[in-house]
Amino acid sequence: MKQFKTESKRILDLMINSIYTNKEIFLRELISNASDAIDKLKFISLTDGNVQSDFKIQLSIDKDNKILTISDSGIGMTEKELEKNLGTIAESGTYAFKKENGKQDGEDLIGQFGVGFYSAFMVADKIVVTTKAYKSDKAYRWESAGVSGYEITEAEKDTVGTKIELYLKEDGEDFKYSDFLAESKLESLVKRYSDYIRYPITLKVLGTDKTLNSMVPIWKKPKSEVKDEDLAEFYKNEFHDFEAPLKSTYAKIEGTVTYDTMLFIPSRAPFDYYSKDYKKGVKLYSNGVLIMDKCEELIPDYFGFIKGIVDSSDLNLNISREILQQDRQVRAIAVSLEKKILSKLKKMQNTDREAYEKMFAEFGLSIKFGVYAGFGMKKDDLQDLLMFYSSRKEKLVTLKEYVEGMIEGQDAIYYACGESYEKIARLPQIEKAKDKGYEILYMKDGVDEFVAKVLISYSDKKFVSVSEADFNTLGEDEKKEIDKKNEEFKSVLEFIKESLGDKVKEVKISANLKTYPVCITSGGDLSIEMEKVLNALPNADKKVKAEKVLEINAEHKIAEKLKNLYESDKETLKKYAIVLYEQARLLEGLQIENVSEFIDAMSEII
Ligand code: ADP
Repeated sequence: MKQFKTESKRILDLMINSIYTNKEIFLRELISNASDAIDKLKFISLTDGNVQSDFKIQLSIDKDNKILTISDSGIGMTEKELEKNLGTIAESGTYAFKKENGKQDGEDLIGQFGVGFYSAFMVADKIVVTTKAYKSDKAYRWESAGVSGYEITEAEKDTVGTKIELYLKEDGEDFKYSDFLAESKLESLVKRYSDYIRYPITLKVLGTDKTLNSMVPIWKKPKSEVKDEDLAEFYKNEFHDFEAPLKSTYAKIEGTVTYDTMLFIPSRAPFDYYSKDYKKGVKLYSNGVLIMDKCEELIPDYFGFIKGIVDSSDLNLNISREILQQDRQVRAIAVSLEKKILSKLKKMQNTDREAYEKMFAEFGLSIKFGVYAGFGMKKDDLQDLLMFYSSRKEKLVTLKEYVEGMIEGQDAIYYACGESYEKIARLPQIEKAKDKGYEILYMKDGVDEFVAKVLISYSDKKFVSVSEADFNTLGEDEKKEIDKKNEEFKSVLEFIKESLGDKVKEVKISANLKTYPVCITSGGDLSIEMEKVLNALPNADKKVKAEKVLEINAEHKIAEKLKNLYESDKETLKKYAIVLYEQARLLEGLQIENVSEFIDAMSEII
């Protein structure tokens, strides 16, 4: 007896003891696996004339022994594949991820990822898989009664393909497993979940084989016949998601190339979406025959979250991965598909803001990377999809909405960066601006400021960071006032600058502070937020440093104090300079630069 890999065991355990009410989905999962296996063999059959072409999925029931069997004439599995595929859970990342997130609830797990083959353990207490792989002369049998482990032995099987026997659980009070032995039940389940499967799914009813599914690909059906539920089922099935998609659309495109397409926005980002492991792409069909599971050439990275299918009769069936990129038809479809997605998203933003915001919460980062990537090559297309949090409206707004809401005299788009909206809201330098009624965009993603820099402007309004030293919202008179203050404090400011050395580039009277005594802004091209982001990168061995300007609030009582110290006690003023500088760093979300120096200075002042 072989043991399951630890994580598979946990998943199995969840399945076996599942209180999950939707147990029937196991059939959809097994049929979908069978269909995938046939897809693979069918593809081979295009070039190998020896492959038998009776592609189908057969259900059969043995009421006496309570066995439900699902057989397919697909590609089968070798002994090695059997071991690898059924001994380990396919998405091994799944469990690790869930554990990290502190949730181990079975329902949630099935909910988020689907668990394929293992879901059969929700209804069966023993499973026997007999399989013969394409081009193999031996067949193998995999048997398991659950967590205790599994056994693989040699077996007899004439034809290539896989047979899965489910020994159904005993009926209990809360669930009647024997329902799955009723013809009518199976028929309705196949109709509900697997109708569009392109191969016949048959069941012996009254001695004759009956085909249960219509086999028409859903995208070939007239729109009027396809209900939203059908689309959702198709999506879940085809893309192994448990949740219905957030949005779906389908269309027949006729132009330079003709194709049918169905596109979906998942409700939730896959757990690995923002990792290198994630593979984007849509399913590519030629006249209903699957050519490729994930054709990445058809989807730009920033729309990598889009799932869907493309079916075109203009495509060459034997197209290989290598020439895909150069293929004229594929290029043409990619261009047209991108336009389609873009216009769909824009429409969604205007007509269904709630769904759009959900989409943006999950995938907005992807779009932001799209704006930033390639030196902003795609910014004109993508900028209107962006949304940022508005200080005034306290929700996400588009750039267009921001510009429309600009107040009299405002000529720039103001933004503030930080770790969280709460922290940004407390930035000392935005207090005055907010009081005056200016709307400020809060940016909390690392990529946000890079996006602002790449965009430069929107609708001719420049992006201006509130953390730039020359940011201010002052009128002419107020500006003169600040100039006067700088003159008045000149020698004090110079002394503080000198005592802080190259920690700061400049010390000046602030144009923006209201209640806080000090703040730090950046005096160069590299902003403080970028310093944080860049230094947090995994391979940032050489730390970068933004040029810092220490701003002092002339209206705060600390200003008078500094002036007095300058006259009477320059040594103490030096300590004050250190304390104020480190304080300002903290307010900006930076760490204390020199802890011991700070503590010494602090203690002496106290
Ligand atoms: P998933 O389908 O999400 O990959 P499963 O646990 O359902 O995960 O299946 C694991 C793997 O086992 C599949 O990827 C496939 O390679 C193999 N497999 C499952 N069912 C079959 C089948 N009927 N024929 C051939 N291979 C299969």
